[in-house]
Amino acid sequence: MRYQSDKAFARQADSNDPLREFRGRFRIPLHHGKEVLYFCGNSLGLQPKTAAEALKRETEDWASLAVEGHFKARRPWFPYHEFLRDQMAAIAGALPKETVVMNSLTANLHLLMVSMYRPTAKRYKILCEWTPFPSDRYVLQSQADFHARHVAGMKKEDAVIELRPPDGEYQVPRQQVLDAIRAAGDELAMVMIGGVNYYTGQLYDIPGITEAAHASGAVAGFDLAHAAGNVELQLHDWNVDFAAWCTYKYLNAGPGSVGGAFVHEKHAVNRDLPRFAGWWGNDPETRFTMPQTFVPVPAADSWQLSNAPVFSMAVLKESLQVFADAGMNRLAAKSRQLTGYLEFLIREWKLPLRIITPSAPGERGCQLSLIVEGNGKKLYTHLADNGVIADWRQPDVIRVAPVPLYNSFTDVFLLAEKLREGITVPNHA
Ligand SMILES: *Cc1c(COP(=O)(O)O)cnc(C)c1O
Repeated sequence: MRYQSDKAFARQADSNDPLREFRGRFRIPLHHGKEVLYFCGNSLGLQPKTAAEALKRETEDWASLAVEGHFKARRPWFPYHEFLRDQMAAIAGALPKETVVMNSLTANLHLLMVSMYRPTAKRYKILCEWTPFPSDRYVLQSQADFHARHVAGMKKEDAVIELRPPDGEYQVPRQQVLDAIRAAGDELAMVMIGGVNYYTGQLYDIPGITEAAHASGAVAGFDLAHAAGNVELQLHDWNVDFAAWCTYKYLNAGPGSVGGAFVHEKHAVNRDLPRFAGWWGNDPETRFTMPQTFVPVPAADSWQLSNAPVFSMAVLKESLQVFADAGMNRLAAKSRQLTGYLEFLIREWKLPLRIITPSAPGERGCQLSLIVEGNGKKLYTHLADNGVIADWRQPDVIRVAPVPLYNSFTDVFLLAEKLREGITVPNHA
C-alpha cells in the first residue's frame, strides 16, 4: 500500500477495505455524544454487539432450567469449553486437542509451569524477555522460589535471566536472544517470552527462539497476551511447548474473561506429566462417576481444574465467531497496513515522537509504543480530552493499537491529527 498524507487517502482506503463491515459488529464508547477514537484494544477489546444477547440466553436458561441446564441448555454447560476449542485452536495455530479455554492467564502460567518447569541443581534457569509484564515476573520469581526450597544447589536469586536491550535501545535484537539462550546452555530449564512485548510491542521470533531453546535442552513457553488475536500464530508447527494468553485484550471477550492455553501434542497426550489436577481435567467419560484416581484426558483439557465459567465463555464464543468470519490472515494483512499508515503519518509530519516498536512488519503486531519528547503526560491528557482512548505507561510511553477488526484508516488519520495538535498546542497553563 502506498500511503498518502491527506484525509482523502484514508477515506479511499476505508472504502477499499474488505473488512470495513466488521466495525459495525462492535459497540464503541461515546465521548460527548460522538464515538471515541479507540486505540486501547491491546488492553481491553471492544464489546461484540452480540455479547449481551449471548449472556441473556445463558441467564434465561439458568432461570428456566437451573441444574438441568448442564445438559439441556440451548448450549449445554457441561461441555461448554468444547464449543470454543476449534475456533481458539485456529487463533493459536494449534490442533484442537492442544488448546483449551480455562481459568485466567496468570493462573494458567503457573499451572503449565508445574508440568513444564522441572528444575534441577544444574539446570534451573529461566530466560525471559525485556521487560516482562509484572505478573509474569512474579510468576517466574515465585516458581523459582518454590522450587529452590526443595532443589539442593538451586539459587532463586540467579534463576531468572531477563534479556536487556543494548544501552539506549528498547528492542532486543533477534540474534541477542538466540545468543543468550546458547550462552545459558545446559543451565537453561525454560524460556518464557511474551510473544509480543506489552511495553514495546516487539514481536519476538517465536519459532527461532523455540528451536534454540530445544537445542539447549530447555522447554519453550510463551505468554501470548499481546499476540493472540493480534498476530498469526502457528504454535503446533513451531513446536512450542506451551503457551497461555488472556481473551480480554485483542480477543474482545470482556473484562477478566476466561484464559486460553496451549500444550503441544507431544506433552498433551503424556499422562505421566506432573500436574495440579482438578475434576474437569479428568476424562469426561468418567467425570461424574467420581473416580478415586485422576485419569487425565489426553489433551490440553487435562489441565482444567473446574467446571466452565459459562457467562465468560458465552461472550468469548461471540468474539471468536467474529474472528472466524474475518480470518486471522485477512486481519493480519489489514493490521500491517493500518499500523504502517500510522507510522507513515508520524514520520511524514515529522512529529517529535520516538517509535520504540520495531519498524519491520514481521517484528510487531498492531501496537505502536511512542516516547514523547518533553511532557508525554500532557500529550496523553490532550488525547484523552479530545476523545482519543490510548494508554499511558510510566514514565514516558503512550501505547496505541490500531485494531484491524474495528479501527479504520480514518481513525488512524484522526489520531495522527490529534497527536500533531497536542504536540504543537501551546501550553496556556
Ligand atoms: C495482560 C497481561 C497479563 C494479565 O494477567 P491476568 O492474569 O489476565 O490478569 C499478564 N501478562 C501479560 C504479558 C499481559 O499482557
